[in-house]
Amino acid sequence: MLPFPKYLSFRNVLAGMLLLWGLAVLLKAAWWLYLLVFIIALTISYFGTTQISSNFHMPSYCKALNHDKKEIAITFDDGVTNPERSHLVLDILKNYQIPATFFCIGKNLENKEQIKVLKRMNAEGHIIGNHSYSHSNFYDFFPSKKIIEETLLTDKIIQTHTGKIPRFFRPPYGITTPNIAKAFKTLEHKTIGWSLRSLDTVIKDEKKLFERIKSKLKTGDIILFHDHTQHMKTFLPMFLEYILKEGYTVVGTDQLLGINAYA
Ligand SMILES: [Zn+2]
Repeated sequence: MLPFPKYLSFRNVLAGMLLLWGLAVLLKAAWWLYLLVFIIALTISYFGTTQISSNFHMPSYCKALNHDKKEIAITFDDGVTNPERSHLVLDILKNYQIPATFFCIGKNLENKEQIKVLKRMNAEGHIIGNHSYSHSNFYDFFPSKKIIEETLLTDKIIQTHTGKIPRFFRPPYGITTPNIAKAFKTLEHKTIGWSLRSLDTVIKDEKKLFERIKSKLKTGDIILFHDHTQHMKTFLPMFLEYILKEGYTVVGTDQLLGINAYA
């Protein structure tokens, strides 16, 4: 999805709705006009909130713009949900000498096995980003203070084990809200989205998944995968063989976007 035009921000949509309601009062408009204005504002807000690339609530980096080199970046969410599967993904990436970005959840970086994976990601040259501490189902309803606390806590855990302070953040579920936007106004992180969602947690058939990505892939894309999905074992080598054959170079998200991944 393309970014919304700049004037279509959350604040402007809210102000526009209130203004039109005010006009409706003055003009003694019919009741359904209020409802119509509300439904339009709600629809815009829904897409703006659920589509990170809309930049509706806050700016985010979702792909390389005006990129003439045949480069893409690969990202994995929810590290380290399943250490065994993460190791498998790391083995495949190592085999193909491909750099990736892993967005890790703070609470998944607590036991010995999880920390071992985190350290391996760092040692093998991958970027580690912050994907909140709790990845709670209610994250989108958290006040900005709690969002800041979670972000700093996860930063601290990553710093303790890698010596690096992450500056890339990806919101859980890719959902943005006014509170998340408020929190990240005070933090130094860059919000990283994606331009190609693989749907690897939904599509269970590797061939279907592969065909879907193949048909959508473009230069400058940031692809979203999950390192805990069962079919990465067979899908990932198939996908990497394909992109290398097609002449793509996989670079780090930092290199693709030209921004620093760490403080
Ligand atoms: Zn996630």
